[in-house]
Amino acid sequence: MTAIQEPVAIAADAQEQPYEYRRTELVEPDWRRFPGWSDVTEAQWRDAQWQRVHCVRNIKQLKALMGDLLEERFYDDLLADQREMATMSMLLPPQMLNTMAPQAGSDPVKVTEAFYADPIRRYMMPVRSDRDSVWPNHPHSERDSLHEAEMWVVEGLTHRYPTKVLAEMISTCPQYCGHCTRMDLVGNSTEQIDKHKLSLKPVDRQDAMIDYLKKTPGVRDVVVSGGDVANVPWPQLESFLMRLMDIETVRDIRLATKALAGLPQHWLQPKVVEGLERVAVTAQRRGVNLAIHTHVNHAQSVTPLVAEAAQTALNVGVRDVRNQGVLMRGVNATPAQLLDLCFALQGEANILPYYFYMCDMIPNAEHWRVSVQEAQDLQHAIMGYLPGYATPRIVCDVPYVGKRWVHQLAEYDRERGISYWTKNYLTSVDRENISDPSEALQQRYPYYDPISTLPEAGRQWWAEHSS
Ligand code: SF4
Repeated sequence: MTAIQEPVAIAADAQEQPYEYRRTELVEPDWRRFPGWSDVTEAQWRDAQWQRVHCVRNIKQLKALMGDLLEERFYDDLLADQREMATMSMLLPPQMLNTMAPQAGSDPVKVTEAFYADPIRRYMMPVRSDRDSVWPNHPHSERDSLHEAEMWVVEGLTHRYPTKVLAEMISTCPQYCGHCTRMDLVGNSTEQIDKHKLSLKPVDRQDAMIDYLKKTPGVRDVVVSGGDVANVPWPQLESFLMRLMDIETVRDIRLATKALAGLPQHWLQPKVVEGLERVAVTAQRRGVNLAIHTHVNHAQSVTPLVAEAAQTALNVGVRDVRNQGVLMRGVNATPAQLLDLCFALQGEANILPYYFYMCDMIPNAEHWRVSVQEAQDLQHAIMGYLPGYATPRIVCDVPYVGKRWVHQLAEYDRERGISYWTKNYLTSVDRENISDPSEALQQRYPYYDPISTLPEAGRQWWAEHSS
């Protein structure tokens, strides 16, 4: 039952490398190719407010934008997904939509095909036919698959690791991703999912978080997240960050924002840049490591505006901008897709390719998820091309355990696709609920591969053992 590393295929021609690096210049696709934006100026495009107002939120708005460019079958497929499967509502800033099918031309048949195949579209605008036709949903999938709310020490503050906390500031984002791991809480309700709501007022929640951190000096690292911090009104975010830095024991602060790629215009607004500079200068003075963590999943998303937003943050004193992508089939789950993305981030945008998470076990996500074995093979395949410090780790976020590198499993039943993992610290759940917490350190915690990736015997087993 122990995993054995299969050797990766060697290129047929021994002279060829499995991956050839070629420097590629970043390009901002021309948004005027979409009929609805045919006369949008560069000044409008760079305006964060214009971007927010012109987000595409529903099929009617998508049709108004695309004119005759997309065939009706695509809209039918999208509607079917929204009715039967979607765990996130549609919210696409123009910047994000503009990175879909950038070379498709103007023939509706070709544009439709390009949209179906497009990696950004596949996770930001899922359609019904994308989903796994036999097992769209794993029997062990859960709404809050990482049990973050169970580990809240005050509302929105997850204390899972000994020295680190996650502060969920807000439950909205400027864009909604189909695979969002916080689908339980983030965004608007869909036809399938009635979202939970944060109950405390933001100011009360933030006060409670600060109080907890003041009386918990063992916590030194705070991930300030959401949702997306780009949706927190800047004065409120700045005030929270300054209060965090008043706590002497807080030494690392990471701001989580996919908007750096989905709406870079937000991070280029003068009032945000000036505010970020005040925070960065304070962080430097107090010796706090301030970083931005973003979420880019494909090289197409890395455009000159994204690079400009990252460089601006670095210029005002943010120590690092890092990427935490999500590994998804059809989006980035090949060595070439991962390496193209990493080179665009590292070489062209000054964003460190830090992590790729395996897609979490939320409902209806099976078509995106890859098996642990596939993730191990991908990790092996991307080694040795990037500088060591910029070679991302592929990690599995194991329920009740936390992030583990994909080779760190204790045991692996490949037939049924069940891997078992251990941990070396206690979570807040262990400390509160188990009479002998040391049991938690002896225990093995399961993680499940997508059933469609299993051999016939494994698929048969699941068919017989799940209702
Ligand atoms: S930006 Fe992050 S939190 Fe927001 S929908 Fe996407 S994955 Fe979820």
